[in-house]
Amino acid sequence: MSTLPASDQAQILAQALPYIRKFHGKTMVIKYGGNAMTDPALQKAFAEDVVLLKLVGINPVVVHGGGPQIEGLLQRLGKKGEFIQGMRVTDPETMEVVEWVLAGEVQQDIVGLINQAGGKAVGLTGRDGGMIRARKLKMVDSTDPSKEHDVGQVGDIVAVDPSVVKALQDDAFIPVISPIGFGEHNESYNINADVVAAKLATVLQAEKLMMLTNIRGVLDKEGNLLTELTAQRIDELFADGTISGGMLPKIAGALDAAKSGVNSVHIVDGRVAHVLLLEILTDQAFGTMIRSH
Ligand code: ADP
Ligand code: MG
Repeated sequence: MSTLPASDQAQILAQALPYIRKFHGKTMVIKYGGNAMTDPALQKAFAEDVVLLKLVGINPVVVHGGGPQIEGLLQRLGKKGEFIQGMRVTDPETMEVVEWVLAGEVQQDIVGLINQAGGKAVGLTGRDGGMIRARKLKMVDSTDPSKEHDVGQVGDIVAVDPSVVKALQDDAFIPVISPIGFGEHNESYNINADVVAAKLATVLQAEKLMMLTNIRGVLDKEGNLLTELTAQRIDELFADGTISGGMLPKIAGALDAAKSGVNSVHIVDGRVAHVLLLEILTDQAFGTMIRSH
């Protein structure tokens, strides 16, 4: 790492002041996913950012994904993951794998990383504190509304009770949430992490929702980065098929959050080290900002 001249360093630190003042005491929901979750250097940078935010008085809430890790275990068990409209088809065996991997390994790895960086992280699933109630998702076909897909135990969020998150925040802890919900009969549901992050941001009336992904942001058909998206433009991109796969629930969730009072919603490149600090505490902007209108 090159060391900048002292005057540059001072300028960079001073630049953060107005942002720290503006965001002090505010909640930021961070969806952690993609490459930022698998590359050790990026993992470390992420954990440092989360701890730094907490130390300057911002309340980060982390919601994590785990697609690659789930895929890895499924493969070892001789199963192949299948997706419909961006959602993982979840049979009972896949549900077990999802719970093991997310609530076990992945969540505890993140908790460990944040603690190592000097924070106090606490891992939760949607079951803890009765946080995320869900029911089976009814998935309507995106082109033929009369058709429905059965994606198994994929959950649709019924209600979010954020009291456990608030209690932890008040006590200086950093919540790390696995996207698993529970149903009426105590059954488990696999919920897309972007959907959980978006809903939680809305319920907490977060200042920001930041979704870290494995790509620069939302791209148009030619592969150019779209730095800002409005609801209307999103409808067009859905209709012409520019947005597909995992970007579908991500953008749908992001737009919901933007329309429901979350001040700013960003889809950012998790491959950029310290993207959280850069986006939140400097004048620089990364990725795609989602606007409600
Ligand atoms: P994560 O949830 O970890 O961020 P996903 O694979 O679920 O990752 O979603 C991101 C992926 O969505 C991208 O890697 C890309 O393959 C896909 N995608 C589909 N349409 C677009 C688009 N228009 N712009 C950017 N990525 C897109
Ligand atoms: Mg995804």
